[in-house]
Amino acid sequence: MARQTRSNDWGFPRWRAYGDKGRSAAKVRLCDREGCTGSGDRPAPKAPNSQERWYFCEAHAAEYNKNWNYFAGLDPEEAARRAAEEERDSSGFRQSAQWKWAGPGDGSRSRDEMRALGALELDSDADFPTIKAAHRRLAKENHPDLKQGDEGAAQRFKQVQAAYDVLKKAEDRKNGKAV
Ligand SMILES: [Zn+2]
Repeated sequence: MARQTRSNDWGFPRWRAYGDKGRSAAKVRLCDREGCTGSGDRPAPKAPNSQERWYFCEAHAAEYNKNWNYFAGLDPEEAARRAAEEERDSSGFRQSAQWKWAGPGDGSRSRDEMRALGALELDSDADFPTIKAAHRRLAKENHPDLKQGDEGAAQRFKQVQAAYDVLKKAEDRKNGKAV
């Protein structure tokens, strides 16, 4: 009914303002951070050496740049421990609403899993065989035996291992396996 549409305009000015924002935002690229209605005019690489870009608003670009190298330098146990902590956090509604990265839209990936996918140069909807293949390729490329004395490759190798560990555990949880 026409009346139904009209009733959207009846709210307090505060609600009107939100509605207006939604309409104008449809014309510009939105910030890729889930739930953010800022305009996404700050491209940020999804992973080192990746052509894929996120588009964030200024505030979220700054946050992302601060955190994007999250797994670098963490040994796999440390990375897994942090992932486990974040898992616990996300059961609290405040954390889950605030900290989930833009993902496949179904909210099935935690922030750490999204970062891990980024570290493996993968998109958010990559399936597990794809994850395995990317891990194998990147681990090989950056293997200490191959890149002796290359500190950058050593860091990247650790990052790739940590990322895979996070995603493997997530896959096991999904399949009902104890981890
Ligand atoms: Zn934003």
